[in-house]
Amino acid sequence: MKYIVILCDGMADEPIEELGGRTPLEAARTMNMDHLAKGSEIGMVRTVPEGMAPGSDTANLSVIGYDPKEYYTGRSPLEALSIGAEMAPEDVSFRCNLVTLSEEEERYEDRHILDHSSGEISTEEAAELLSALSEGLKRKGYTFYVGTSYRHLLIREKGKVVELTAPHDILTKQIGGYLPEDEVLREMMVRSYDILKDHPVNKKRRAEGKNPANSAWFWGAGTRPALRSFEEKNGVKGAMISAVDLLKGIAVGAGMDNIIVEGANGGLDTNYAGKAQTAVKALTEDGYDFVYVHIEAPDEMGHQGSFRDKITAIERIDEQIIGPVRSSFEKSGIDFRMLILPDHPTPVHVRTHTADPVPYLLYDSTKHFDGQDTYSERTGKQTGIFVEKGDRLMDHLLEKTVQ
Ligand SMILES: [Zn+2]
Repeated sequence: MKYIVILCDGMADEPIEELGGRTPLEAARTMNMDHLAKGSEIGMVRTVPEGMAPGSDTANLSVIGYDPKEYYTGRSPLEALSIGAEMAPEDVSFRCNLVTLSEEEERYEDRHILDHSSGEISTEEAAELLSALSEGLKRKGYTFYVGTSYRHLLIREKGKVVELTAPHDILTKQIGGYLPEDEVLREMMVRSYDILKDHPVNKKRRAEGKNPANSAWFWGAGTRPALRSFEEKNGVKGAMISAVDLLKGIAVGAGMDNIIVEGANGGLDTNYAGKAQTAVKALTEDGYDFVYVHIEAPDEMGHQGSFRDKITAIERIDEQIIGPVRSSFEKSGIDFRMLILPDHPTPVHVRTHTADPVPYLLYDSTKHFDGQDTYSERTGKQTGIFVEKGDRLMDHLLEKTVQ
């Protein structure tokens, strides 16, 4: 038996008036999901434990089978693992976003945050800006690391974990009330604007009508986590396919291999088909029993507040990933179980994550369930199947008897 998770980041949503009261998942044309739904177990799962902040970090830890209440130490340390950054137990890492702030105000505190992703800036451009920040904000015990697109890291030797605000939670708001209390971090952010504002990369981006990456934004502080090996815990050899450092970091922490797919970038135009082919090859030729395919696009479209683009992302996943994976396995005659689900909702009208339970679809090529006509937030609730502890869903996928 082979196991595959198709994790559609932020896919769950709420009914949208412009869609006649349907959610993007309901409005999207999803032939392949609908086909599977008819013979699959469909239910709801709580991926974000009550009282925890909804994020891809906590939610994906749950889905991969690690109770975030026990294992979660912050988002950025997971990303630090993925890029091989050295972290001592007493070091603290911070996510360093490259964000777009409004430019017409006089004072830094009065600016508004327009885009938490600087228009999904390319890693090449971001690397240039990060090198300007490393140079201009040089300080003993603080090190910047280049990640992917707008997502980067700052590691502080022997630091303290402090409360910080996620930039995607305050889109369009004035930043003054959300800046770090920590003097050093705050001053670094203020100075980052002066360093980045007129950087050639940003001049070029403005000329091309793109959002300039004109400020650093620190958040997601944490220390190094200690995850148990996925293979030891579950007895299956696993691999991760994701363009996002956070997910790669969870994989490194759990002792899973990261498989890189050319052209996978976490955006709407990611290489969906390449992810599907890579997953099938990993399971059928390369000796893996379990593959976790993570697609960031629906979440990003949720943050951008575009239900049309979110629908497009969902349709591409359906057509270019779920369809091909299923037909490849059917052709090869290998038995498989496939779990399709979001990590958390990212409703387009909220433009950030919520902690509500999400619908899941569990397909088993050797069994027939009396399923539903479609897979959606609505049908997930209709069946009455509810997994309260998200980390148990992995045991269910892997058919482990839980004592
Ligand atoms: Zn998100």
